[in-house]
Amino acid sequence: MQHTCSMCGTVYEFVWEAGTPLPKNFPFCSARCKAIDLGKWLNEEYAISTPLPVPITSETEHEILTELGINVDDGTE
Ligand SMILES: [Zn+2]
Repeated sequence: MQHTCSMCGTVYEFVWEAGTPLPKNFPFCSARCKAIDLGKWLNEEYAISTPLPVPITSETEHEILTELGINVDDGTE
């Protein structure tokens, strides 16, 4: 099988059969490219700039579900 490295763009060949684990460096051509990618993550180059949404409490979840028209009340009909 051929795959283009997600990091350096090298087209490399790898052997993989269904039911077996993917090559340990997949989807990268080498441990080096994998390490570079990992380093990028660690350096937060890919960090999401938008703040995370407010954690959903059971109360807000209830409100959202109600707005969506989903009946969340138990046995009150
Ligand atoms: Zn590579």
